[in-house]
Order: sequence, then structure tokens, then C-alpha cells
Amino acid sequence: MATCLMLAIVDDRNDADGISRRACDHGRMTQDSSPRLAIVGGGPAGLMAAEAACADGIQVDLYDAMGSVGRKFLLAGKGGLNLTHGEPFARFVERYGERRGEVARWLRAFDADALRDWARGLGVETFVGSSGRVFPADMKAAPLLRRWLHRLRAAGVTFHMHHRWLGWTGGGALRFAAAEGERIVAADAVVLALGGASWPKLGSDGAWVAPLCDAGVDIAPLQSANCGFEIAWSEHLRTRFAGAPLKSVVAHWLDRHGIAQARQGECVLSEYGIEGSLVYAIGADLRERVARDGGAMLHLDLAPGIPRVALAERLAAPRGKHSLGDWLRRRAHLDAAKCALVFEVADKVALADPVALAARIKALPLTLRAPRPLGEAISTAGGVRLEALDEHLMLRARPGTFCAGEMLDWEAPTGGYLLTACFASGLLAGRGAARWLQQ
Ligand SMILES: Cc1cc2nc3c(=O)[nH]c(=O)nc-3n(C[C@H](O)[C@H](O)[C@H](O)COP(=O)(O)OP(=O)(O)OC[C@H]3O[C@@H](n4cnc5c(N)ncnc54)[C@H](O)[C@@H]3O)c2cc1C
Repeated sequence: MATCLMLAIVDDRNDADGISRRACDHGRMTQDSSPRLAIVGGGPAGLMAAEAACADGIQVDLYDAMGSVGRKFLLAGKGGLNLTHGEPFARFVERYGERRGEVARWLRAFDADALRDWARGLGVETFVGSSGRVFPADMKAAPLLRRWLHRLRAAGVTFHMHHRWLGWTGGGALRFAAAEGERIVAADAVVLALGGASWPKLGSDGAWVAPLCDAGVDIAPLQSANCGFEIAWSEHLRTRFAGAPLKSVVAHWLDRHGIAQARQGECVLSEYGIEGSLVYAIGADLRERVARDGGAMLHLDLAPGIPRVALAERLAAPRGKHSLGDWLRRRAHLDAAKCALVFEVADKVALADPVALAARIKALPLTLRAPRPLGEAISTAGGVRLEALDEHLMLRARPGTFCAGEMLDWEAPTGGYLLTACFASGLLAGRGAARWLQQ
């Protein structure tokens, strides 16, 4: 049974976001005979695992390296918390690419509708935005998290903050770096929900890779997902157009199998290159091509509404006193940022020939040199390979230890798909751990 080898009162304060930080070790000793589940990581996946296990009558201790839980979740709420997406299930699961089969299984237990019902159960209504994305009515994460933590505490979950998991002792107990020194916790079962490695200052830094590798767990290298890509812009473009949106463009690229793909959306020019929802959505293919070929070609159609031949005819009309920039604005409906891109990429010959210019505008070639570093990315690709887990998300190499959330090897674009899969896998792992303890 669970044995806490040290007693510690950590802290009991409110943090800047108003989320109560109650991290009091209740000093349980071996006389407590009910099986105890240790959950490490208090993001959406870990908290959902705690809720699921509690609902099945399991005593839960939740440990987190930070002074409060859900920091990345709160950050996600800063620009409007995109909880999930309203599209049909079959389309929804396609977003998980190569892992759609496995993730679909998780989502059958907890899909977008279930997530919205769950939020409603916490008194948080949601709405579907014009793009199909689902948000809380007030767009915020903090009220939802506050209510959720209140409910978890009422259900008996004990929170232990400032506990950084270091790995296992030789005997299989959990090792934590805590304020008072190293702390050893022997739990009956464990859920690891340690997140990826983006935005490490929020707590998820990927340091779990080493102990899991040592334990024989197969882990795909952690990589940036939902991130920008670097392009060698001229000084002019970098200083004058960083931050400018490119609205309604069509990206053309080769996917990882070399098949031509096209997708319409929006991106943003940045000081280092290009970012935004369109780039994030196709980022996995671009990242793979960069890794394989040292760079990736992306062609942007800057005037999707005008066919190439018609565009060439428009540009060929007598220009009179109009500058070329003004001409492009009038005849091709390009704004200043799109014009700047044309001037950045097209050579003098192309600029002087309407047919060549139209071809450039319809397929502007950009060479992507590298994805941005993982620390800046919105999410992490790679992680614990799903083949290393059984159907309850238990590590085959370590019976009794379950994994959930972004630390698993799946990825998805922004749009609410990340959180939905984190919640769903947390639920599955929590239920799986409860089932395992009850057996
Ligand atoms: C800027 C930004 C905006 C985002 N917006 C959205 C959005 O709108 N919609 C969406 O679907 N997704 C969004 N995401 C992604 C989403 O927030 C994550 O996918 C999700 O939080 C991952 O949940 P998780 O529980 O797996 O991991 P995390 O939320 O990262 O939680 C992991 C927890 O584990 C703890 N931990 C890590 N290592 C240790 C250790 N060694 N010991 C103890 N504790 C440890 C961390 O402190 C953390 O509390 C956004 C991400 C970012 C960065």
C-alpha cells in the first residue's frame, strides 16, 4: 500500500491567477489500507486522470513540479481557450494523422461532445465559433480550472506542489525533488502526465525522457509541433513586415509521402520566417521534409480567387503611371505584405513579365530552413510510443505505470484537438489505473 516516507507541509497560498495552491501532505502512513494512485503532472491530462480514478473510488495523490497546476492550460486561455472542435467525429479524428486510429479509440470514450458536457457540469457553457472551434462562453481557462480544482479537492484528491519527479528508486518507488530535499513515495499505481517540452518555464520540460528511457520505454524524439518555420528574409522584409498577416492564401507542399497537397488558410510573417494556423496545420509534413532534405519548399498562392491566366491578363493591361506595387494592389488585390513578399522572391525578369509575375503570385516559392525551437512551440511531437502502452495506456515495460497527455507520441494541429486528446487519454489512463488497482 502507499507509503509516504517523509512528511512535509509544502504551502497553501493563492497564485497570481487566483488558483488556490493547496499542497499539503496529509502525512499518511502505512495504516491507510486503501490503494493509492500517484499522478505526476497536473495539466489537463493528469487532472482528468485524477477525476476518473476518484470516480472509481481510488485515493489520489497528485504531484507537480510547479507551485500550482494547469499553468499551460491557463496560458492556453490567454488568447481564448479553444477547448475542442465542433466538426463530425470522422473528420475530427483525421486531425491526428498517423495516430488517428489509436486516438479515435480514446475519443470514443470522451469526444468533443463529452468534453462540452463535462465543462457544462462545472458550470461552464461553451459555444461553437464560426470556424467550428469550441470555446467557453467567457473564453477563459481560469474559471473552469478553479471550479475543477475545487471539485477534485472535494472528491479527495490531495495535491503536492513543488514535487519534481526524478525517476524511480531501485525498489520501484517514485523519487521527487521537493522543497525539503529528496522525497521517496511508494505508490500502488502511477499515472505519468508530464506534458511535452514546449514552454518549459510552465513546468513541462521533457526531463522525464531520461528515466523512462532508462526503464526501457520506447520514446520517439521530442520535436516542435504547431510552430513557425525559419526563412532567410531580407533585412527589409524582416524589419518592415514582421507581424503582418497573410490572409487567405493557399499553401502547396509535398507531404511526407511526396504527394502534392494544398490547403487554404492564414499565416503571419515573422521576424524569423513564417507562422500561424496554416503553417501549424501542415507543420508535421514540413518538419519531416526539413529533417530529411535539410529544407522544405512551400509555395503560396497569394491570389487564390483569381486563376493564373486571368491574373496574367490583368497584369498585362497598360500600367500607365502606376508603380508596380500599386498595380499589384489594384489588379491582383494584393495588400502591402503580399506585395512585399512578391518583391522579396521574384527576380527582375519575373517582375517585368506579366505571365511570369502571375506564375509567381500563384505559386510563390519559400524555402523553409528549420522549425522553430521546441521551447517556443505550442506543442510537442514525439514522446512515449503508443506501441509501448497497452489499451489502458499502461506501460508494457512497467506494469502499474500509466501515461497520458502530450507526453505520448501523437500530434495534432491547433483547433482544440490537443486538449481534447489530453483529456481523453487522461480519462483512459485514470480509469485504467483504477481498474488495475481494483483487480
Ligand atoms: C501558448 C499555448 C496555447 C495553447 N492553446 C491551446 C488551445 O487553445 N487549445 C488546445 O487544445 N491546446 C492548446 N495548447 C496546448 C495544450 O495547452 C497542451 O496540449 C496541454 O496543456 C497538454 O496537457 P498535458 O496535461 O499533457 O500537459 P501539461 O499541460 O504540459 O501539464 C503537464 C504538467 O506536468 C508537470 N510536470 C512536468 N514535468 C514534471 C516532473 N518531472 N515532475 C513533476 N511534474 C512535472 C508540469 O508542471 C505540468 O503541470 C496551447 C499550448 C500553448 C503553449
